[in-house]
Amino acid sequence: MIKLTSGDSIFDIKHLENLLKANGIECIIKNEHLVGGLGEIPFIECLPELWLIDDKKLKYSKEIISNAHKLHKKNVEWCCKKCNEINEYQFAICWKCEEENHE
Ligand SMILES: [Zn+2]
Repeated sequence: MIKLTSGDSIFDIKHLENLLKANGIECIIKNEHLVGGLGEIPFIECLPELWLIDDKKLKYSKEIISNAHKLHKKNVEWCCKKCNEINEYQFAICWKCEEENHE
């Protein structure tokens, strides 16, 4: 196993976990349940961490994450799955048929 990243927020880590699992990469979250119950433990040890089961997937995983960030920044258009209309990134639903964006 190898540590991929850690984050201040369990929500960020969960998001990355979902992203990797969607790409077929096995990963686990460490310290998930320590957050919020700090007690005597130094804060830094309570940060949630994302670990990969397979060390060899590290490079691939980082690519997936950086691509996801790029996509996010680029504000890409999306194609409606129902009517194939191209929608601007800022719309959560299709302007034509009101289908939700499932991307
Ligand atoms: Zn549509």
